[in-house]
Amino acid sequence: MGGVQVGELAGLVWRDDCVACARVEVARAVDGLALCRQCARDLRQVPSRVAGTAAPPVFAAGAYGGAHRGVVLAAKDQRRPDAVRVAGAVVAGTVRHLVGVGLLTDPRLAPLVLLPAPTTGRAAKNRGGCIVRRTAGVAGRQLGAGAHVVAAATLAPGTRDSVGLGRRERASNIAANLRVDAAELRTAVRILRTPGATACIVDDVSTTGATLNGFAAALAARGVAVRAGVVIARA
Ligand SMILES: [Zn+2]
Repeated sequence: MGGVQVGELAGLVWRDDCVACARVEVARAVDGLALCRQCARDLRQVPSRVAGTAAPPVFAAGAYGGAHRGVVLAAKDQRRPDAVRVAGAVVAGTVRHLVGVGLLTDPRLAPLVLLPAPTTGRAAKNRGGCIVRRTAGVAGRQLGAGAHVVAAATLAPGTRDSVGLGRRERASNIAANLRVDAAELRTAVRILRTPGATACIVDDVSTTGATLNGFAAALAARGVAVRAGVVIARA
């Protein structure tokens, strides 16, 4: 074993190219994440509400382009495990913003339930486990013990991708294909009985917010009131 081999091994674990843009000039100033200074700055912008979202309002960390697009694509690409850490950090930052404006509970004071948006089993398999769930898991750990990730639902195999569907079709597509995990749902209901507790849906990308609003409506019908949605990028 020479020094070169050890160095190569370290390179696999500790990459020096930015997760979001692949620039080889990583700062690691932000929680040790593999981001260049420019992307780290871009990912810290103030989140904005996805236009057209009604109940609940959906907030995006940024527009689908540049660093935000880079993080979403890298997270879906299994060759980059640390990308999920960055995606989780972006979601956690957006949640903290919503805590700051009073929309969500500060998880240090009352429980905060993070509900990953449902994906199909096939999508999860293709991506080495559901990226949205894993991202929510990272965000939950960053937000502390008061944050609970509850994977309450999946989508039936063969569910049509929402790309190309209109707002109403997206919502009914979700409603028709949602497969609720009864045990997980009970967990969410139980946690949300705590005074001050709030719930937030997490997803990677949102175009119109219709998918998230559809998921929220399905949860509301089962006793889980969702206060907000959070996505990495609005497309
Ligand atoms: Zn970068």
